[in-house]
Amino acid sequence: MIRLHGVGKTYDDGTVAVHELDLDVRRGEIVCLVGPSGCGKSTTLKMINRLIEPTTGRIILDGTDVTEADPHELRRGIGYVIQQVGLFPHQKVINNVMTVPLLYGESKTTARSRARELLETVGLDPDLYADRYPHQLSGGQRQRVGVARALAADPPVLLMDEPFGAVDPVVRTRLQDEFLRLQRDLGKTVVLVTHDIDEAVRMGERVAVFATGGRLAQFATPMELLAH
Ligand code: ADP
Ligand code: ADP
Repeated sequence: MIRLHGVGKTYDDGTVAVHELDLDVRRGEIVCLVGPSGCGKSTTLKMINRLIEPTTGRIILDGTDVTEADPHELRRGIGYVIQQVGLFPHQKVINNVMTVPLLYGESKTTARSRARELLETVGLDPDLYADRYPHQLSGGQRQRVGVARALAADPPVLLMDEPFGAVDPVVRTRLQDEFLRLQRDLGKTVVLVTHDIDEAVRMGERVAVFATGGRLAQFATPMELLAH
């Protein structure tokens, strides 16, 4: 579903963030990118949805070279979940989730009922939370809204950058479990960035271990990683 061939990124100041990266993600698979801070994980993710242009190499998403795709069209098929969610603070939860479907021309009624369903899906009772504002939610609840919003356009691909990073360890474990359960039905193709090896091993069907300098040190199943 996603293939990176010799992908590299050198920023304008000369920082080599990613070096000669080869990676593939199968349809319906969760691949975790893990490694210490600054080793190029977020840069890799952002190259897939073209928030950043690679300096070298090619990225093929569902048969299309992303550098040749229209970025808006491309991002329609990709849900992006980041740590500091980036919910619109002056919009209610329900409107945060409805934004994307409305943008794509769905009717208000359809978008609203779909948004309520999605809130249910991520474990937020819409009767209680739909009309709250983001600041009236806990960190964990905001993350859930972020996931609901990313799912709103029903994209086949989800890119998640430290999606459970901003919450305490108990909530984190709960969100991880819930996401895995959810994913069994969703069957999305997921690339998940984390600096936490436990999370990577737990969530990933395969784990790409990055080393400093944006190099891939290992790409293996959790079983294979733990055996070494
Ligand atoms: P990670 O997600 O693994 O923490 P990043 O992909 O964010 O790593 O960053 C990889 C490297 O690129 C780091 O050394 C970081 O400082 C650098 N970097 C990230 N963004 C920029 C930028 N816009 N300009 C220059 N260097 C950057
Ligand atoms: P968590 O364990 O998920 O981090 P919190 O302790 O942050 O939860 O919040 C507990 C409950 O209080 C949640 O149900 C949340 O919706 C509610 N809550 C948190 N902040 C506010 C607020 N500013 N206004 C109303 N309710 C809030």
